[in-house]
Amino acid sequence: MRLIMLGPPGAGKGTQGGMLARALEVPHIATGDIFRQAVREETELGRRAKSYLEQGELVPDEIVVGIVLERLQKPDCGKGFILDGFPRTVQQAEALEEFLQKEGKALTGVILLDVDPEVLVERLTGRRVCRQCGATYHVRNMPPREEGRCDECGGELYQREDDREETVRHRLDVHERQTRPLRDYYEKQDLLHVFDAAQPIEDVFAAIMEQLGRGR
Ligand code: ADP
Ligand code: AMP
Repeated sequence: MRLIMLGPPGAGKGTQGGMLARALEVPHIATGDIFRQAVREETELGRRAKSYLEQGELVPDEIVVGIVLERLQKPDCGKGFILDGFPRTVQQAEALEEFLQKEGKALTGVILLDVDPEVLVERLTGRRVCRQCGATYHVRNMPPREEGRCDECGGELYQREDDREETVRHRLDVHERQTRPLRDYYEKQDLLHVFDAAQPIEDVFAAIMEQLGRGR
């Protein structure tokens, strides 16, 4: 299965993308995770992406597209993939389409997680992430068993720099201007499946699995 997770920051793309990847046994490719890791490791990519991430701006298309297309050529993508946070512009979507066409492949579908903006601010400012394994929690909606510690690996939980309220509002704005047009883009291709992402995590997951014909 070749799936795209679409939706504003905080809609649950990472949460659902991770659950789907485990269930469908395909890699979960999150561009935000790739950039944060590069920044942490101070690689050349990290140096180029850092200021965009800090300001909640999009990293330029020519940088992002190259990284993603290279990743999609790895053998583990043979069975499919779940793209989370990519594409974020029509130009990125076109580059992906061209790449898949050349490979003789097509997208299975685009999963749009739809939620009210006010819910998103609360979700993002309450989000905590494991420094070690990247697992995501929420101070109220999905607290870890022990405060500040990851249930999976015991790593330290932290708040992303760009999850502070001011940057969150800017990121939502960037999404409205640059990423929202992708809804129409995929709607026209009859690939878009819309889910009410204000539902509890397990309910959203069940609805997606049902749509994919993998429901229980
Ligand atoms: P995205 O990857 O779209 O930015 P995340 O998956 O990281 O979003 O989710 C943002 C925050 O909201 C996280 O703290 C997560 O635990 C929480 N969350 C995700 N889905 C739900 C949901 N359906 N209901 C309540 N909280 C959620
Ligand atoms: P995310 O983890 O998806 O919220 O992404 C965090 C940040 O990484 C974004 O605010 C952007 O700066 C950058 N980023 C991630 N994916 C993309 C993309 N497809 N295009 C441009 N920038 C991206």
